[in-house]
Amino acid sequence: MFDFIIVGQGIAGSMLAWFLHKAGKTLLVIDDDKSITPSRITSGVINPVTGRRLVKTWLADELLPFAAATYHELETPLGEKLYEPLKIVRLFDSVKAQNDWSVRCALKEYSPYLDNGAMIHLADAYINNPFGGFELKEAAHVNGGTFLTAFKAFLQKHQQIYAGRFSYSDLKLKEDSVSYKGATARQIIFAEGIQALQNPFFEKLPFYPAKGECLIVEIADFLYDYMVKGEVVLMPFYEKNIYYVGSTHEIDFENSFPSAKGRQELESGLKSFLKCSYKVLDHWAAVRPTVSGRRPLIGIHPRHKRVGIFNGMGTKGISLAPYFANQFVEHLLLGKPLNKEVDIKRFLS
Ligand SMILES: Cc1cc2nc3c(=O)[nH]c(=O)nc-3n(C[C@H](O)[C@H](O)[C@H](O)COP(=O)(O)OP(=O)(O)OC[C@H]3O[C@@H](n4cnc5c(N)ncnc54)[C@H](O)[C@@H]3O)c2cc1C
Repeated sequence: MFDFIIVGQGIAGSMLAWFLHKAGKTLLVIDDDKSITPSRITSGVINPVTGRRLVKTWLADELLPFAAATYHELETPLGEKLYEPLKIVRLFDSVKAQNDWSVRCALKEYSPYLDNGAMIHLADAYINNPFGGFELKEAAHVNGGTFLTAFKAFLQKHQQIYAGRFSYSDLKLKEDSVSYKGATARQIIFAEGIQALQNPFFEKLPFYPAKGECLIVEIADFLYDYMVKGEVVLMPFYEKNIYYVGSTHEIDFENSFPSAKGRQELESGLKSFLKCSYKVLDHWAAVRPTVSGRRPLIGIHPRHKRVGIFNGMGTKGISLAPYFANQFVEHLLLGKPLNKEVDIKRFLS
């Protein structure tokens, strides 16, 4: 018998598997092995201050150091560099934006991330930068695809992973265990991303899907080793001259495929600050598991004690998943309380 079955090996399921593995638990991880998922096409940025209004990320002072420590810890067993500090230069689009930044810099809680003395002008042949910009500190990048591929190999070596689509009708619940196609476990935890919309145990949870599209572009001779954020993000990706352009955020969409509208939005955002030509190599799209209220959805089903969920990472799975996977494992194994803001008890009783 396994201790846990986990459904989904995205960033959420992988982090949960890591902390359960560290606690000595046996696992069966089930994933349908899709090549395009949010966790695989994510820009992978850990960002302490986001949005036009420069708002500090929820729980940033706790989440960010925890994420850094976790990805660093995983680098040895996975044999991959995962966590890379990332310089982000944000471009102002107006004098008002400069003033808003200056006001934020004066606030003590923003001091680790924003520096009033650091106004930047990228005056070169590549970036159009009439209002200047600033450097955001303490940001980082994790390549989702690299992490998931390496973690899958780790699971294959140390634990068990089953590639295939999970079907709810094959799950049998008993008083003290669950069984699925001949495998039994003490508990099953669903970490299926937006596929949770089809999960009969959690259909009342307020998922609010948001489609995201991105482009992979090649820019000859352009060799910035940092991220530029204007109307869109332009970030070095994998190889010299290859950049990630992201991301759209759409809540009213017909399907999860790359669209002409998404590409047009990304290219028009890119052209608003990039002066040189580029070539589009790839165009990806996936649907983020966003939630009304923007907090994760974590916990054990109130009536089915053998069934849990670890989901709702929304637009910030890379920074949220390590911290809350650890918290959920401490809840599952030691009975420690979950943060009330993420506990599914706020919706299910
Ligand atoms: C374009 C884009 C850019 C982003 N940029 C950032 C960023 O910069 N920083 C950040 O923190 N976040 C970012 N995000 C958000 C982040 O990617 C998500 O929060 C995160 O990937 C969600 O992870 P997850 O594991 O919950 O879901 P998923 O990535 O959807 O993983 C779920 C897994 O479960 C599998 N699965 C589902 N149902 C079944 C089933 N029935 N049987 C078997 N397997 C199943 C899926 O195939 C998948 O592998 C971005 C997202 C997008 C789309």
